[in-house]
Amino acid sequence: MRWSLKKLIQLVAILAILLTFLTSATVGYRVNKNTLIESTLDTNKAYAEKLASTTNTYLTETLQTLETNAIDVVPLLDKEDAQSELLRIVERVRMQTSTFNSVSIVSAEGVVQAVSPPSLKLIGEKLTSIGARQALKEKRPLISQPYVGITGELIVYISVPLLTDDGTYRGFLGGAIYLNKPNILEKILGDHFYENGSYVYVVDKEGSLIYHQLENRLKDDVSSNEVVQKVITGISGSQPLVNTKGVRMLAGYSYVPIANWGVISQREESLAVSPASDMVFEMIWRSLPLLFLAFVIVWYVSRKIALPLQKLAYYTESSAQADQKEKMEAISDWYYEARQLKGAMLHSIDYFKNEMNYFIHESTTDPLTKLTNRRTMDGFIKEWIEHDTPFALIIFDIDKFKRVNDRYGHAVGDEVLIYLAEAMQKAARKGDICCRYGGEEFIILLPKADKVTAYLVAERLREKLESTISPCGEVVTISSGVAAYPLHAEHPARLIELADQCLYEAKRTGRNKTIVVSDEPRHE
Ligand code: GH3
Ligand code: MG
Ligand code: MG
Repeated sequence: MRWSLKKLIQLVAILAILLTFLTSATVGYRVNKNTLIESTLDTNKAYAEKLASTTNTYLTETLQTLETNAIDVVPLLDKEDAQSELLRIVERVRMQTSTFNSVSIVSAEGVVQAVSPPSLKLIGEKLTSIGARQALKEKRPLISQPYVGITGELIVYISVPLLTDDGTYRGFLGGAIYLNKPNILEKILGDHFYENGSYVYVVDKEGSLIYHQLENRLKDDVSSNEVVQKVITGISGSQPLVNTKGVRMLAGYSYVPIANWGVISQREESLAVSPASDMVFEMIWRSLPLLFLAFVIVWYVSRKIALPLQKLAYYTESSAQADQKEKMEAISDWYYEARQLKGAMLHSIDYFKNEMNYFIHESTTDPLTKLTNRRTMDGFIKEWIEHDTPFALIIFDIDKFKRVNDRYGHAVGDEVLIYLAEAMQKAARKGDICCRYGGEEFIILLPKADKVTAYLVAERLREKLESTISPCGEVVTISSGVAAYPLHAEHPARLIELADQCLYEAKRTGRNKTIVVSDEPRHE
């Protein structure tokens, strides 16, 4: 491929446009992606905080409800036939709060006194579950660690102690939340925007899942997750993380102080940032008309810039053209460099033309008289013969020129030669060619002239000289011979020879005269 200036400008400009476009698309994508990541982190953090605080409030209220009902339970414990009253209370707690899947009253020995729903048939049973044992042992309001209860459910047990006025411990009133059944956590945490790839899970203080949208993940130990590690030590915040399946996630997390739980809301990063690539595609799509316009402008401007230089280069290459200078002058030089270049080239054309003319002149003229030299004269004759152009010639020689030189010196002789050349040009017609043939011998070529015209020209010159004082102070005269082509000879050398013979004839018969070659049959 030949690289022209136009193509180079186009390439550079198009590369620049594409690079700018690519850079802005990349930067746009990055900025957008970072914004989306930050806002997703913020959203998840705010959401985890809201859920944690709701859960905390709810659990606090639940404990308060249990405590209020515990006050009603205590006096009934020593009462005969209080069974139905106790049942009514547990039923009420379960129905009122709708927090618990089951509610029970348990004695200080761990034996179930009343339970709701009654279908559980636990009355009289001794509870040995972790929740029950923990409540009996710690004798304080409690939210248990999740455990598998005797009914086989995964349970979190919430209980308050039953204390008499003198502070005697009489057991506890407690409710179980079945984590793997529809429960209150699900009401608080569930039904949230899973469809956009976000989900929420809750861990206990050991880092086990106690709430997750996938039931089979309950009880899973996720304590290796760095966010879980943070949240169970009571820290709330947000950060990107790689989950246990190696997927990049954007997580917000918040601590539930009352239960030592952690709520984590997270979203897959690739889903969160997908609008950024959509934006880039939209940007590309919307920019297409503008890009197209930019390419058209580049094409047009590059042409405009390159055209003057292209033309200058073309006319410089074709320097033989006669109208080269005119064409160059017409080139539009609308910007600085083109103007400078054009000026320089026009100058150099002028310079070389002058130089050329000088050398042509030098090589075709005689230095002393400035008349056409003999070699150039031969060229004219040859050309005319080739083109069948008729012509006549006058050959003449100064009479007694040696005497001029002898009397007045060679320099004066030269002046006489110059004077004669001028007289010769005045006598010749326009288009005739005056040549210095030898030392003081001259020829006038008369194209398209016959012998009579030539004779008249020769006579006009002879008469002029005869009546004029030359630079040497004397009159100098000439003797001439006239011949015509093709009348007298068809070969130039023969033609000159015939004319020369007439010249000598003129010398011999008295000088200062003109003799024309006779029209007698020729002997060539
Ligand atoms: P004729 O009438 O027979 O021609 O007599 P002439 O004296 O002119 O004789 P010829 O033509 O033979 O002499 C030519 C002379 O012209 C000889 C030479 O000194 C002189 N001459 C030739 N070239 C130059 C020149 O360039 N300058 C000068 N000053 N003299 C020249
Ligand atoms: Mg002579
Ligand atoms: Mg002479």
